[in-house]
Amino acid sequence: MIKEEYDLIIIGAGFCGLIIGQSLTQSSFNFKIFEKSKAFGGRASTRRIGGQSVDHGLQYFTPQNREFATWMQAYLEQGLIKLWANQFYEWKSNNKKLSLEEKSNSYYACPNGMTSLMKEIAKVLPVSREIKIMSAERDFEENIWTLETDQQIEIKTKKIICTAPLEQSLNLFKNYLSSAEELALSKIEYNSALIGIFAFEFDEMPCPDWKGIICSEHEILNWIAQDSSKRDKPNQLILVAQCNPEFSQKNFNESEEILLAQIEKALKSILPNFNYKLKEKQLKKWLYAEPISGLNKPFMSAIEDSLILCGDWCLASRLEGSFLSGKAVSEHLLNI
Ligand SMILES: Cc1cc2nc3c(=O)[nH]c(=O)nc-3n(C[C@H](O)[C@H](O)[C@H](O)COP(=O)(O)OP(=O)(O)OC[C@H]3O[C@@H](n4cnc5c(N)ncnc54)[C@H](O)[C@@H]3O)c2cc1C
Repeated sequence: MIKEEYDLIIIGAGFCGLIIGQSLTQSSFNFKIFEKSKAFGGRASTRRIGGQSVDHGLQYFTPQNREFATWMQAYLEQGLIKLWANQFYEWKSNNKKLSLEEKSNSYYACPNGMTSLMKEIAKVLPVSREIKIMSAERDFEENIWTLETDQQIEIKTKKIICTAPLEQSLNLFKNYLSSAEELALSKIEYNSALIGIFAFEFDEMPCPDWKGIICSEHEILNWIAQDSSKRDKPNQLILVAQCNPEFSQKNFNESEEILLAQIEKALKSILPNFNYKLKEKQLKKWLYAEPISGLNKPFMSAIEDSLILCGDWCLASRLEGSFLSGKAVSEHLLNI
């Protein structure tokens, strides 16, 4: 059994965990981030199909908060983030036609996939990947936490910052929360999401003139991205179709084959003249995709501030909420 000791450990190298790590690099904290997956970024996640990046989690971001917009600047200049679109199309159920979204907005994405940005942030951080925190026990006399992992590593730490989706955080720490804290957390809910990814041959045909279609009036889908339009030199046309929360939840345990057939049919109902030749299709299931109700504060502190629970579910405002939660935690830690 390997034994490690830290002032502070962060559970999760999703965006929130990475933002906290980035803010603490100049501090005197002896800290480490532990991530159960191989990749950085959590739900800001990219896979490769035929050598091309495809975002099968986070689709785009629309900075509203000034601190987030300022943080993005350095990565925009590096070319890791780019303005992807100003307007999407909308599909209406009454006439079954596409029309341009009424308002324009600034939709940002990463030309090499969302994971490329997460990798860049993680580059200078102490992160151990493919290590899952399995349990946590507090010694109230010594004021120390002992964490067990799935890799025969025992970790002792004074503080824990847990950025995992709420349900997974509760699996680890439920026994350490007061009934008032548990009650506040019981009101937080997530949407699930089923994602169909469809790769088409490029041929000599021009790409469709839309980058994204909002189809919230459709019975199965609520969003279609022409993911390949985010890439600088795509070698194939790739669509990412996201099912609406009701359909996703109801059909979550359905087989991959049936779900892909249903999503493909739904795509055809929105894009009847889409005549590209299909090469490959894949499915991704997200049980905890996006929080729909939050805590209304950026983090929860428990056990004399030795345990902090945070992430996008605190403010329920997606990637930007995750950033703001991470920033608030960092400020709190640096001001102690
Ligand atoms: C399909 C989909 C589409 C989306 N579209 C958008 C969009 O268009 N715009 C937008 O702003 N947001 C979107 N989001 C939401 C956005 O991706 C999330 O809000 C954001 O990425 C959450 O980041 P986070 O760090 O808070 O959580 P996460 O990304 O979930 O990070 C938590 C990390 O903790 C790790 N972890 C969990 N348990 C353990 C453990 N026991 N030990 C070690 N590690 C652990 C996980 O592996 C994960 O990496 C979308 C999400 C999905 C799924």
